[in-house]
Amino acid sequence: MPASHATDPTSPSTPYADFYRRSIDEREAFWAEQAQLIDWQQPFEQVCDARNPAFARWFVGGRTNLCHNAVDRHLAERAEQNALICVSSETGAERVYSYRELHAEVQRMAAILLDLGVRKGDRVLIYMPMIAEAAFAMLACVRIGVIHSVVFGGFASHALASRIDDARPALIVTADAGMRAGKVLPYQPLLDEALRLSQHPPKQVLMVNRGLAELHPVPGRDVDYAAARERCLHAQVPCEWLESSEPSYILYTSGTTGKPKGVQRDTGGYAVALAASMRHIYLGEPGQTFFATSDIGWVVGHSYIIYGPLLYGMATLMYEGLPIRPDAGIWWQLVEKYRVSVMFSAPTAARVLKKQDPAYLSRYDLSSLKALFLAGEPLDEPTASWIGAAINKPIIDNYWQTETGWPILALCSGVEPTAVGKIGSPGRAVYGFDVRLIDELTGADITEPNHKGVLAIAGPLPPGCLQTVWGDDERYLKTYWSSIQGRSLYNTFDWGLRDAEGYTFILGRTDDVINVAGHRLGTREIEEAIASHPNVAEVAVVGRADALKGQVAMAFAVLKNPALAASAEQAREQEQALMQIVDAQLGAVARPARVCFVGTLPKTRSGKLLRRAMQAVCEGRDPGDLSTMDDPAVLQQIRDLLG
Ligand code: AMP
Repeated sequence: MPASHATDPTSPSTPYADFYRRSIDEREAFWAEQAQLIDWQQPFEQVCDARNPAFARWFVGGRTNLCHNAVDRHLAERAEQNALICVSSETGAERVYSYRELHAEVQRMAAILLDLGVRKGDRVLIYMPMIAEAAFAMLACVRIGVIHSVVFGGFASHALASRIDDARPALIVTADAGMRAGKVLPYQPLLDEALRLSQHPPKQVLMVNRGLAELHPVPGRDVDYAAARERCLHAQVPCEWLESSEPSYILYTSGTTGKPKGVQRDTGGYAVALAASMRHIYLGEPGQTFFATSDIGWVVGHSYIIYGPLLYGMATLMYEGLPIRPDAGIWWQLVEKYRVSVMFSAPTAARVLKKQDPAYLSRYDLSSLKALFLAGEPLDEPTASWIGAAINKPIIDNYWQTETGWPILALCSGVEPTAVGKIGSPGRAVYGFDVRLIDELTGADITEPNHKGVLAIAGPLPPGCLQTVWGDDERYLKTYWSSIQGRSLYNTFDWGLRDAEGYTFILGRTDDVINVAGHRLGTREIEEAIASHPNVAEVAVVGRADALKGQVAMAFAVLKNPALAASAEQAREQEQALMQIVDAQLGAVARPARVCFVGTLPKTRSGKLLRRAMQAVCEGRDPGDLSTMDDPAVLQQIRDLLG
């Protein structure tokens, strides 16, 4: 059976079904066409080398550059058009850069990096708030063939240190502070601590001073960005032409171990995949404005704040702040002001807005806006209907992962404008993705509709997906390509279900990863942080469904000295102490909603932690078969604690 038959998103011939089939059955011709969406300094010799599907290489022999495609090549046609619009509702700053100005700023930043001795193939770690210099730094890195590793500015010192040690950057680019809800969040104390903890600290730090927090520059280590920029005002730095498979960046994501995985991305495949997705999925139009509300520390920030829109000749709006400050009209006011044509956000943001007066959402002229795309976590029907009605625009769900870099399941309205979604489903398999549903026990393809299975993808993955786990091919193969019974398929670690028309529904993760407000967190990382407290003997963290954030983390700890949490007040103090440890090591984003103290954790007789049973109890569900459980009374204690 040809690969595509297992995944045909629709049986009859529709424009999208034909497009999809071609992407799988005539892979080379299909992607050679899409590759025309970007410039190549040297044409590729082969579209896809898939001899080893897990390590497929796209556009072999072709030479290109992400920064050239995102910036330089637009100068001829749109030098004076908006490229980067930076708005902070926290500081009130608003800066707009045309393509010409962006080109100049990126070259200045590239010249600074080169002056500091950074060279092709080196890593630069970017630990930044949502300011223009973060975008300059990313684009400057890829311009000179330097691999960037952006670390979310909300992560704290341990999380930062583990990423420093894995990526071993030659330099860190950072700022004095971020700001959230009116509160200044100084970065230097976190960075100093991370550098102290790290085994491989870089020698230099480039500091952007926003004037928000006091800086204590370390002589010989810290370089002031403004002064360095002055020296490079007229810099001209040519693009370094990279072979298509040379890496562009590393982006860390959580897995089931405490050690984050560095998703490594190529150059040419990523550029083609993003440019094509702007056209076929995201309704992009060169010259228009794209507004993704994510953060550059996450994959949506990489793909759809920075690279996707710029590769496609659009202006991109980069926003620092909350969706409800100064009021819930702020995003929509920006849509009106900058004539935003496409918006991309997460369901959690829509749920936050749902708590506000809906009048804020209809106060502004949204006539430029074509649609609002939502991704990153399950989109529930009430939220989708509410926001759709409030802004009177199509709401388009799409499903993907840090690993893939662009959608696996979506509607592809750019190919078939009449395509309509189904409530609760992010859509059908996206062109290029040979999506399979797999029987968990046998590893066989599930072909009949409406059966739950593990969502997997047959190799090769389309262009733009992860090439490997940075520095660890073995972990890459073991984690992603060897975890499905007897098959070499890419495992998404999500449960799925497909109906007769190919619409796929996501039913949650198969592993211990949780998704809090669209942010992916490894429960193991949170456990490690809590376990580092001297009074914690053992801890388990599970995700609990939450009406606002999708999921929240719940921690259950066994104390070495339970007497320290004997009274309600002491227990509250212990709980606070453990939450603070998570804040200090990982960042507030990972803080559990509750830490409960238990006498023992629910385990099987062989000592395996029963996470799913704990999660079920947290959510008030039946924990299922407990015959292998050592002591079922433990679950009752958890039930009692949660009241
Ligand atoms: P991340 O790598 O942080 O983008 O997280 C990816 C995970 O988020 C996926 O494996 C899913 O579990 C979940 N996810 C992303 N988008 C969706 C969606 N549209 N519907 C349901 N779950 C989603």
